[in-house]
Amino acid sequence: MTPLQPARGTHDLIGEEFRRHAHVIDTARRIATLYGFEEWITPVFEDTRVFARSLGDTSDVVTKEMYTFADRGGEQVTLRPEATAGICRALVSNGLTQTLPQKVFCTGPMFRYERPQKGRYRQFHQIDAELIGSAEPLADAEVIAMGWHILRDLGFTAAEVMLELNTLGDAASREAYRAALVAHFARHREALSEDSRTRLDRNPLRILDSKDARDAPLIATAPAIHDHLTAAAREFYATVKHHLDVFGVPLRENPRIVRGLDYYSHTAFEFVTTRLGAQGTVMAGGRYDGLVEEMGGPPTPAVGWAAGVERLAMLLEGAPPKPRPVAVLPVAEAGTRDAVELLQQLRTGGVPAEMAYRGNLKRRMERANRIGARFAVFVVPELINDGLVQIKDLDSGAQQDIGRADLIERMMHEYRR
Ligand code: ATP
Ligand code: MG
Repeated sequence: MTPLQPARGTHDLIGEEFRRHAHVIDTARRIATLYGFEEWITPVFEDTRVFARSLGDTSDVVTKEMYTFADRGGEQVTLRPEATAGICRALVSNGLTQTLPQKVFCTGPMFRYERPQKGRYRQFHQIDAELIGSAEPLADAEVIAMGWHILRDLGFTAAEVMLELNTLGDAASREAYRAALVAHFARHREALSEDSRTRLDRNPLRILDSKDARDAPLIATAPAIHDHLTAAAREFYATVKHHLDVFGVPLRENPRIVRGLDYYSHTAFEFVTTRLGAQGTVMAGGRYDGLVEEMGGPPTPAVGWAAGVERLAMLLEGAPPKPRPVAVLPVAEAGTRDAVELLQQLRTGGVPAEMAYRGNLKRRMERANRIGARFAVFVVPELINDGLVQIKDLDSGAQQDIGRADLIERMMHEYRR
């Protein structure tokens, strides 16, 4: 029988890979708390309309990438491709639109039917932050500063990961810009890719997002939003940049960062690295003042970001080390009961402790070395009657007899550091 493989585009997280992954999430969760964000868990699948409404019916995610199916009761459901829509749906369904702002952190698996390659999977994971209910530029800057704080704590420098910032302005700015874009691209219609010709009619802003080589030269010469900003939008953008400076976030302006949907406004940003080839974006976000309304709630300003955990985990310098436990070893069968008791006392004291389930002393010692134990504690029947065990520092080789109570205390002290 051929053994079964993981489904295409999915992967297992085991050992070092798991530790890298968990380190990204643990770090994000810790920093999110510093910035006053609370964690929510929303369902992995939702009514398909949650995503169809939020992502727009022309986006790549909706037209090509969603895992949508009718369940056994005939409900159309979709495995979430991203977190924001579910969080906005949850805000409205839980009646939280009157208690704003809500600062939400979220993490979990996302699903997109894509062509798998390095850094691109069909089931992947995101960390996600949403600050819902503030229209102030300080909110945009705070959300970005938190993202940068997380990236910094993961060990990235400004040389490796850089914030690229843009503004989409307000509705009036975007309308003027859209007209300028249509005029520009319509003049070169024949040179555009087929996809971009469709975008020209339906959503010209999204041409700027195209990865098709035929579109690149026309994108390079396209007008920039900055020439079309209203005075209010210009001021908003300047204030975001000012706050980012105070927060200490280095940035590069990139007028090519766009979002194709109408509910996006003002700030749009990406943290980009040169170390992942074509999959260079590790965190992306922006302001989406119209989305909560789209979900049936009142008009509610919001700003947030999402980051791919796998891409961040791949970039980590090293995996966080495995904890090095204390190995408890009965030197003879008769010591088993005392050894188990000791094992439990160590664990109760917060000390990671391990004991092999069977085997002679040699075998048990081999296992202690294999799991990277830091100390070995030998339970010797002749000593235990006097309340003593032997402890061995497996790095220095130093060995001594020690009272059981002293051992527990010393280990608790050792592992508290
Ligand atoms: P891309 O242009 O790479 O397809 P995207 O614009 O679709 O990215 P977003 O929807 O902004 O990505 O998602 C935010 C982050 O989630 C991305 O920057 C990336 O780190 C991660 N991500 C998105 N799709 C995948 C995937 N299929 N596999 C792994 N990570 C992904
Ligand atoms: Mg994508």
